[in-house]
Amino acid sequence: MLLGGFLSMNPGIQQLFPFLENSPSTAPFIIAGPCSVETPEQLESTVSQLAGNGISLIRAGVWKPRTRPNGFEGLGSLALPWLQETKKKNKVKIAVEVATAYHVEEALRAEIDVLWIGARSTVNPFTVTEIAESLRGVDIPVLVKNPINPDLGLWLGAFERLEQVGLNRLGAVHRGFSNFRDTLHRNSPMWELPIEFRTLRPELVLINDPSHISGKRALVKGIAQHALDLNFDGLMIESHVNPDQAWTDAAQQLTPGDLKKLMDELIIRNERFEGRVSSNILEDIRQQIDEVDRGLLEVLSRRMHLVEKIGSYKKQNNVAAFQLERWQEILSSRPNWAKAFQLNPEVVTELFRIIHQESIRKQTELLDESKD
Ligand code: PEP
Ligand code: MN
Repeated sequence: MLLGGFLSMNPGIQQLFPFLENSPSTAPFIIAGPCSVETPEQLESTVSQLAGNGISLIRAGVWKPRTRPNGFEGLGSLALPWLQETKKKNKVKIAVEVATAYHVEEALRAEIDVLWIGARSTVNPFTVTEIAESLRGVDIPVLVKNPINPDLGLWLGAFERLEQVGLNRLGAVHRGFSNFRDTLHRNSPMWELPIEFRTLRPELVLINDPSHISGKRALVKGIAQHALDLNFDGLMIESHVNPDQAWTDAAQQLTPGDLKKLMDELIIRNERFEGRVSSNILEDIRQQIDEVDRGLLEVLSRRMHLVEKIGSYKKQNNVAAFQLERWQEILSSRPNWAKAFQLNPEVVTELFRIIHQESIRKQTELLDESKD
């Protein structure tokens, strides 16, 4: 949805980006732009279309931290004058990622409006300190992406390091966490972490980055909607005029047209702009419980898959589904493990009785299938 500017903008976003006062705005608030700047034409055509859709803050990668070497690592300072030009032409503001003091110096010289710290930098306290020190005495909004690993302390610590040098216009970007088990997402959202982050730092703007969580176009909308349902303050979405030909993150970028469609389809929950989730502690905790329960079911389903694997193995070897020693071993070890987690051993025994029953039922079913 396209809005008239500040009037209907989230107050946290207004404080963080006061220079957007006379710009158009979208509901929800969206930062969009290419993963990387590639050519002046790619940049200008992407930005002009995004600006036409009401996007007033453009993201664009110039220094690209790549996990593996020999990929495209960004054009560096060469792209900065192009950003200055597109900014003037399209009356937008620009955000870039910085990972060293040199990047900061170059970005400030090019009058970049917003800086962000990437996931591979947040994870390293030395890097965050270097960036913070290079910003001492500068008044510029800084967004901090979550670290690549699910460590809330590192994320919080990055804010503390930036605050220590006097920066006070800060926002968080949730881009998901590395997880080799999760084959659906590029980075697992682990929603309980940003929720916990918001509980601890309710005054900070919290933005969701569905592009890097999903890793694929088709999933971007669902993740963005989930973030809005959880009362995030805005979204950062990668957009490119020709996503399939993008030099980085081709699979996850949306054309400006597809982004517009997504914006129109997203459902904005009314309470999103009325007080923060954190004002209602009970609601916060319930959301965390929902996420933990989702995780419990995911773990349970992984366990059942393993049980089925063993079932097929037993079938191949003509071995009975129920083995007393194994069941006794489970019954004696799990209540002990429970104590280490401060859980009631009796309740845990009961829980495993039910799980084991279901595993036996499943394996028997598998063995029986061999009869026909
Ligand atoms: C990016 O925004 O293009 C990027 C490299 O993100 P992240 O730090 O989340 O991997
Ligand atoms: Mn990217």
